[in-house]
Order: sequence, then C-alpha cells, then structure tokens
Amino acid sequence: MERRRAAQSTGSVSMRQKRRHNPNLAKIHRSYTVEEAASVYDVAKGTVRAWIKAGLPVFDDKRPMLIPGSDLAAFHKARRTKNKQKCKPGEMFCFRCRAPKEPALDMADYKPDTATLGNLVGICPDCGTIMNRRASLATLEQVRGKMEIRYC
Ligand SMILES: [Zn+2]
Repeated sequence: MERRRAAQSTGSVSMRQKRRHNPNLAKIHRSYTVEEAASVYDVAKGTVRAWIKAGLPVFDDKRPMLIPGSDLAAFHKARRTKNKQKCKPGEMFCFRCRAPKEPALDMADYKPDTATLGNLVGICPDCGTIMNRRASLATLEQVRGKMEIRYC
C-alpha cells in the first residue's frame, strides 16, 4: 500500500526544486531493496546505487541486496548535518555515529569497482556498522594511515 502511494506521488516531483530527503521516510525496523528505497525516497534506482557507493551500508551477503532501514534513515540524517566532515588518513565515516572513525583493529578491505577505483570497507569500532570510504589505487597510500588493507 505504501509503495503504491509513493509511486503515485512521482508526478509532482519535477515541480519542486532540489528536494532534501526526509530521513524519517525509512522505517528503522525493516530492510529495503534498492527498488523499494528508490520508491520510498521517490528517486531513480541509480540514485540509490549512488548512495550505496557513497557509503550507504547494505547487507551485501543477501540477494537481492538489502538496505537496513535504520542505516537508510541515518544516511540521510548524516547528509543533512555532514558539513564536509573530512576523514583523516586511517579514518572512515560512520553514518550511524555521524563521525569519522578508525575501523576496528585498523583493518579495512579494498574492494575494487574498476581497475583504478574502489571502496575501502571497515567496521565501526563503536557501533559495528559497516563503513565505506571511496578510494582509488592512486590515493590509497595517502588514505591508508595505519590501516591494514586487505585486497579483495
Ligand atoms: Zn559507528
């Protein structure tokens, strides 16, 4: 029912200007597929995939890929308040704590998207949330700090 309502509302979107996404749209006790998240926030699926690349956590061991509602809400809250909080070398941004953190055990996985670009993935030592940081092979050394990076 909710999904149908969201779909019907798409017609008026173009009238509004650069809308901020309301973080409270996602219900924290359920998970969303990319398709459902796109429907809830009234955006294209590609936009949701861009959020994931920007660090929105997913349960990536599940197919279809599921986004925890709590993370979806926290992600948009963080975007509102982020103020260009820069991560230092060795840090990643935790969307749940809304702060840069050194990953647990200073360990990170580098997951390449292309030959030169990928994601560093670590775990927040305080809340256990998966953290992502965009990285390229070219800048990896500057970003690394004291992280031990495993190449996947
Ligand atoms: Zn955290």
